[in-house]
Amino acid sequence: MDYQELLHDAMDAARATKGRGRVADYIPALAGVDPGGFGMALATVDGEVHGVGDWEKPFSVQSVSKLFSLALVLAHGGDGIWHRVGREPSGNPFNSLVQLESERGIPRNPFINAGALVVTDRLLTLTGDAAESVREFLRAESGNPDLGTDPVVAASEAEHGHRNAALAHFIASHGNLDNDVDTVLEHYYGHCAIAASCRDLALAGGFLARHGTRADGIRLLSRSEAKRINAVLLTCGSYDAAGEFAFRVGLPGKSGVGGGVLAVLPGRASLCAWGPELDAAGNSVAAVAALDAFTTATGLSVF
Ligand code: GLN
Repeated sequence: MDYQELLHDAMDAARATKGRGRVADYIPALAGVDPGGFGMALATVDGEVHGVGDWEKPFSVQSVSKLFSLALVLAHGGDGIWHRVGREPSGNPFNSLVQLESERGIPRNPFINAGALVVTDRLLTLTGDAAESVREFLRAESGNPDLGTDPVVAASEAEHGHRNAALAHFIASHGNLDNDVDTVLEHYYGHCAIAASCRDLALAGGFLARHGTRADGIRLLSRSEAKRINAVLLTCGSYDAAGEFAFRVGLPGKSGVGGGVLAVLPGRASLCAWGPELDAAGNSVAAVAALDAFTTATGLSVF
């Protein structure tokens, strides 16, 4: 397969969506991003890496980080986390509070904000530094030692973080946080505000394409754990548009409001596409269009 040509075609499909979404503006640090940017990268399990457009330009990973924090919790602490967070699609926006009350502080899944706060709390207990564990993992898997948290974005998240703080306090009121609420929030913002490129994320997601094995060949997760993460990514990775994402792209994937989407083709490759304009659910219009074009043209999907 000529991946480079396929990525160019996917980029053309993405560029045709220009103007159809809106750049995240819930914090000033993200509102200033150039809406016209686009990049896409593909890393195969055999070590090939391809990219087009701004594929080496760092962007704010935001909720894409939630898949790494979950993987690290499972790697360190086994599956006890599943007593504290569910694995059903929420059908609600990623920052919604509504289900937490009826579900007694047990978030629906690890990929909405409420669930990611619980996962971050667990990672903090297991490693002592949740944000640094995610950064370290991304640096190691991407081979990019310069990858780090953007302090301006992290500070902006904290300053405008009333909703996340409300979620964390509500969860804590049900006894589902072990650490101090402010510390959990600081680490959650710390991993959301990591800046990484499509290249970095495609490489860092490779462990899910390799059924749980890290870039150096060492096992991070069991095959079954990797399968489970991929399953939850498919059903919950793009918030209340996960059905639409599965319909169009047909791959497990995680989106973030920085405009990135990391998708996995188990056994074969990991892909990351980025474009800052978002649809109403908070998913990148260009990245979804590019992944849609790629899987449609190649027939490569989990189905
Ligand atoms: N940091 C963002 C928030 O907490 C992440 C949300 C996202 O990417 N969906 O609101």
